[in-house]
Amino acid sequence: MRHRVFVTSFVAVVATSLAVLAHFSEARYAGGALGELVQGNRRFVTGRFEHARLDKERRDELAKAQHPFAVVVGCSDSRVPPELVFDQGLGDLFVVRVAGNVIDDASLGSIEYAVEHLGANLVIVLGHERCGAVKAALDGGELPGHIGAIAAQLSPAIAEAKLDRGPDPLDTAVRANIVRVVEQLRGAGPILAEKVASDELEIVGARYDLDTGEIEFFPDAAERKKSAEKQSAQH
Ligand SMILES: [Zn+2]
Repeated sequence: MRHRVFVTSFVAVVATSLAVLAHFSEARYAGGALGELVQGNRRFVTGRFEHARLDKERRDELAKAQHPFAVVVGCSDSRVPPELVFDQGLGDLFVVRVAGNVIDDASLGSIEYAVEHLGANLVIVLGHERCGAVKAALDGGELPGHIGAIAAQLSPAIAEAKLDRGPDPLDTAVRANIVRVVEQLRGAGPILAEKVASDELEIVGARYDLDTGEIEFFPDAAERKKSAEKQSAQH
């Protein structure tokens, strides 16, 4: 009798634990790919890293194929490595990094490959506070070697920041560049633009704060446009 009570209780405890575990996993991935990145950055900021999917088992799995769940278009700055600031493992992120997180045909082709062939359905354009490339472009003047090519790509964002005349032109330019690259990718036909139009792909701007480690995700441009239209209709 006592044995049966023990077995029944044990089964009940296991069943409850499994239910809790299932609920936890569901909650964790409820926000989809973006939710996972938000939570990963929270782990980075609080120092509660998972450092998950970095073991031999994961390497063996990835040796056969990769299915990264997000593309990160970031700056080459050594202080903003996407896998670390999002606490992600091997095979999770497809990363394209160029100083100033600007786009050229080769990087656009890389993003298209990750979306079209590897199945990623989220692209994050990750700029950051006090970006040296943006600062060099803002300061102007002659830039040696090929550095001028980056400044040329940044020039529309620099012009926007100068027109704005805000108190922090560097941060205004960083933000303007992120928004600009998001728009550039959203309109990049045929692959990305089509997937955005059919809601199969989300492209989101984000800014990394060097001081806090926090990543701010920008509100969706379409949402902003809608609320601006609503406001202007009310006035
Ligand atoms: Zn930078």
